[in-house]
Amino acid sequence: MDIQITIDALKKNRYSVSFFQTGEEAADYLDRQIDGKVVGFGDSATMSSMKLYERLSAHNEVHDPNQSKDNDEFLEIAQKCLTTEIYLTSVNAMSQEGHLVNIDGTGNRIAGSLFGHKKVYFVVGTNKIEPTLERAVWRTRNIAAPKNAKRYNLKTPCAIKGDKCYDCASPDRICNALTIHLKKMNDVEDVEVILIDQELGF
Ligand code: SF4
Repeated sequence: MDIQITIDALKKNRYSVSFFQTGEEAADYLDRQIDGKVVGFGDSATMSSMKLYERLSAHNEVHDPNQSKDNDEFLEIAQKCLTTEIYLTSVNAMSQEGHLVNIDGTGNRIAGSLFGHKKVYFVVGTNKIEPTLERAVWRTRNIAAPKNAKRYNLKTPCAIKGDKCYDCASPDRICNALTIHLKKMNDVEDVEVILIDQELGF
């Protein structure tokens, strides 16, 4: 895959792009960029694996729903994340045409990525790149969502069988809204894609 095609497409869609070989290099960059700020996190396995909470909370006020003890606390922290100056999350898939795709059960990750912040970062491993938007949506539903359901030990058919989406009617279903970012949202000053040439997250 020619990564430059994706980078050019993202830039054409009005995103800033920074490309790194490793998650550690990307974490060093974010550590330098974000200092003394109030920061909100989307719920992201990629960001957890990069230890971004530990690094950024040493010199920023960071709200991360992943640090919550129970669902009430999760929702309380997730709400705070909607109005922070800086917001970081990941995506479930990205197309080579520069689309960013996310699926969400609660909606905090999606809501935070659309509005209410001065700057939004999407932190993404190149394993999430698909050739087309159609394939990116397919990946979101059949790769990312089942793995996320498994991560949370949910009683959904995708988590139990681990192969694909069954478009379930389970009360544990995590696929309630699907967003496709076609271009940068107008009222977020800057949206930067941190692209990392590694397999990260789902
Ligand atoms: S709709 Fe249900 S089966 Fe499909 S990925 Fe989401 S939780 Fe799993």
